[in-house]
Amino acid sequence: MIKTVLVDQDMCISCGLCVTNVPDVFRFADDGKAEAYDPAGAPEDTIQQEAIDICPVSCIHWQE
Ligand code: SF4
Repeated sequence: MIKTVLVDQDMCISCGLCVTNVPDVFRFADDGKAEAYDPAGAPEDTIQQEAIDICPVSCIHWQE
């Protein structure tokens, strides 16, 4: 089973933390909300610590 990461865009407040901290995985979509455009772009630990753990609305999740 491949583990991937998803942003719940309905909850994202576009603060930019994930995009700034892990730009190889997250970017802003055309609607201004973050998206995980390359879930394999950084190690899982980095995604967890630099994005998931610090998202102020906890809208980034792993999906297996
Ligand atoms: S850290 Fe969370 S709220 Fe901020 S841009 Fe990323 S997904 Fe959106």
